[in-house]
Amino acid sequence: MTFSDLGLSPALVKAVAEKGYTKPSPIQEKAIPHILEGKDLLASAQTGTGKTAGFTLPVLQYLTDTKHPKYRPLRALVLTPTRELAAQVYDNVREYSKYANIKSAVVFGGVNAKPQIATLKRGVDILVATPGRLLDLHDQKALSFKRVDVLILDEADRMLDMGFVRDINKIISFMPAKRQNLLFSATFSNDIKKLAAGILKNPVSVEAEPQNSTAKKVTHKVYKVDKKKKTEFTIKLIKDGNWNQVLIFTRTKHGANRLTQNLIKAKISAAAIHGNKSQGARTKALKNFKENSIRILVATDIAARGLDIPLLPHVINYELPNVPEDYVHRIGRTGRAGAAGEAISLVCSEETEYQNEIEKLLKEKLESNIVKGFEPTDTAPPKRAATQSKGSFGKKKKGGNSDSSNQNKPKRKPHFKGNKPAGAASGRGRTGAPKKKRF
Ligand code: AMP
Repeated sequence: MTFSDLGLSPALVKAVAEKGYTKPSPIQEKAIPHILEGKDLLASAQTGTGKTAGFTLPVLQYLTDTKHPKYRPLRALVLTPTRELAAQVYDNVREYSKYANIKSAVVFGGVNAKPQIATLKRGVDILVATPGRLLDLHDQKALSFKRVDVLILDEADRMLDMGFVRDINKIISFMPAKRQNLLFSATFSNDIKKLAAGILKNPVSVEAEPQNSTAKKVTHKVYKVDKKKKTEFTIKLIKDGNWNQVLIFTRTKHGANRLTQNLIKAKISAAAIHGNKSQGARTKALKNFKENSIRILVATDIAARGLDIPLLPHVINYELPNVPEDYVHRIGRTGRAGAAGEAISLVCSEETEYQNEIEKLLKEKLESNIVKGFEPTDTAPPKRAATQSKGSFGKKKKGGNSDSSNQNKPKRKPHFKGNKPAGAASGRGRTGAPKKKRF
């Protein structure tokens, strides 16, 4: 199967060839024909599957095939949860439409709106946007949704997590009722199903496995660690393993900052990305990490979501997420060509309940280890027995970095946002098959 076989024009095929894509990814193969037919689509796909080209290419094809008035009203809108994802999707749109006569733009908050308004006034065929800024611009009459005939919701689950549901519904209320809708999501909670049911009409459901099949080879490892020694333990893991590209997740922005500072103190180059960082700082951190000029990227879940972070050999959960599905998103970053990935979680006693919830979701017990010198000493005893590791870790270091703050103390009981991490049901009589495990 080639991109031409899928019905894409030579202009688009040439652009993807220049990107180095030799054949469509599974999600592209499944989704593109339906989108070209004008059908609504409910896609279960996370970052790394090639989902962006999966919706962008057929939409670009549609936009080039159909006539537009001279003033180029907005005809396709891609909504994304984060600024980074918007920028990334837009980069793809621009690259794929290099040889097509298409005008595209991106708008998101945190930057000056004036140039965005000027661009929109000149006419745009396809716009990538985050919901808040888009509504602001709409309120300022910088654009109209009246001619939109394709709406794409990318990472819809995260948009709901971030509280964008009202904004999305408001944006949709300005659009013509007759339009094509494409919804992409990595997980399918009841809220997502409800959103999908309200937006999609007789959708086709498609599912994607991550493009890199080794992502399925991810091994999960839990270290039961004293909360105060997590930083010291993290440094030890990185140094002993001589790891050079590690993504570390923390639950809070403060936690991310503190850990980053401690890593730097320990002479491990690191940067943090989270919601309090400026757009420029986030972009720079990600670029440096991708280019290997820093070893460690410390991220909160929201900041990491949707980023085109390469698949990595190691992901460390410095703290477990309190939403079990976030664990699935996090470990989706592990694995790389020809090698198995490792998802390591540092679990202190008070996080045991989170681990239980994650295991329930995965339907799998995570291998637990305790390393001498780092044993949990917290008051709440772990619920599960853990096995003693005879690993390569040495004795307790005196005076190492310790993280004694209770900043990251879990405050609420873990909860499920849905039934399963995936397994799509549209709510319109179409039930998705249970999702295969990704790891
Ligand atoms: P996405 O899941 O859309 O974020 O894409 C993940 C990565 O895969 C991006 O770096 C894309 O450039 C790349 N990609 C998308 N489609 C293909 C393809 N057919 N062949 C090779 N790489 C691809």
